[in-house]
Amino acid sequence: MKRFVYQGLPSRVVFGEGSLASLPAEMDALQAGRALVLCTPEQRASAEQVAALLGARAAGIFDRAVMHVPIETAREAREEARRLGADCAVAIGGGSTTGLGKAIALDSGLPIVAIPTTYAGSEMTPIYGITEAGLKKTGKDMRVLPRTVIYDPALSASLPVGLSVTSGINAIAHAAEGLYSVEGNPVIDLMAEEGIAALGRALPRIRANASDAEARSDALYGAWLCGIVLGTVGMALHHKLCHTLGGSFNLPHAETHTIVLPHALAYNAAAAPQAMQRIRRALGGDSAAQAVYDLARDNGAPVALKAIGMKAEDLDKACDIAMSNQYPNPRALERAAIRQLLQDAFDGVRPQGDPSRP
Ligand code: NAD
Repeated sequence: MKRFVYQGLPSRVVFGEGSLASLPAEMDALQAGRALVLCTPEQRASAEQVAALLGARAAGIFDRAVMHVPIETAREAREEARRLGADCAVAIGGGSTTGLGKAIALDSGLPIVAIPTTYAGSEMTPIYGITEAGLKKTGKDMRVLPRTVIYDPALSASLPVGLSVTSGINAIAHAAEGLYSVEGNPVIDLMAEEGIAALGRALPRIRANASDAEARSDALYGAWLCGIVLGTVGMALHHKLCHTLGGSFNLPHAETHTIVLPHALAYNAAAAPQAMQRIRRALGGDSAAQAVYDLARDNGAPVALKAIGMKAEDLDKACDIAMSNQYPNPRALERAAIRQLLQDAFDGVRPQGDPSRP
């Protein structure tokens, strides 16, 4: 076995149907008495449910979380936390809401209780992102890692089927790249394969019945594992491409991940055969790249960047940005091949099968 370092992250997870009810006890464990509840405008009702559960321990609700955490929103939320004398933030929602909690924690050190309602995985990472003057800066700081995460599958039942599928494949992307990360290790490999398998089982069932409780539970379990992978080991080409496409061309986060992943896997397949083998084992089929593509296509997700607002004339610029700084990736970054990858993702073609497979 190769040498490795495993660094576990200190977060507490409470998982299961109905586990939202344990929020007051979890606040006690954190010795927190005044929570600022965070949400998007669309999820105000969920935040009110949380506030009702907390009673007098809810200091207030800040309902203006939006994608990519604009610095102005972060400042308003920080000010609101100070004004109300909050001693913790409870973030109920997807990656955008967790991201707002992280922006508060970065500034104040307030502990975050995250209650995820998508599969994005931000709640398991010490990574934050804040957008200033159109530029998203990301960084790593242990202060932003949520101290407690409550995974209650019932809260994800309202996530629309389309977003459930793309958010689930966003999670698979974390695990897939973790399998060929330079910081990879055997424990992370176990979590990654199990996470991909759980989501691979769950997503078609959610498509068939959005309120299938067992499938929602399986998907959230998979998302948790994939989130640990994202928080623990470094990512590679796929995440770099999606960061570029989302940040520079304003493409939607989960859909972009869903479309690019099969092509990033095809690009890396020959250089990372063991990772591909694990993904095939988790999803079935003869090719990791094709299995992810088929999971998306067969469950109604978009498979072409042109279908989500990318313009053909921006592909060269996207390629330039992706090539601009080097970062670890199983296969060296080759301009012509990356440009072709982007073209294939733009057109939505089904990728080639894994090498040395039928
Ligand atoms: P999101 O949080 O933006 O949510 C998308 C929409 O779905 C929002 O309108 C939200 O209110 C709604 N929604 C969420 N859960 C719902 C539910 N159960 N029912 C009904 N509606 C619901 O989307 P996301 O994909 O979860 O997060 C994307 C953002 O998170 C991006 O900005 C991305 O960069 C960031 N992110 C950060 C990390 C990290 O480690 N820092 C990891 C993953 C994602």
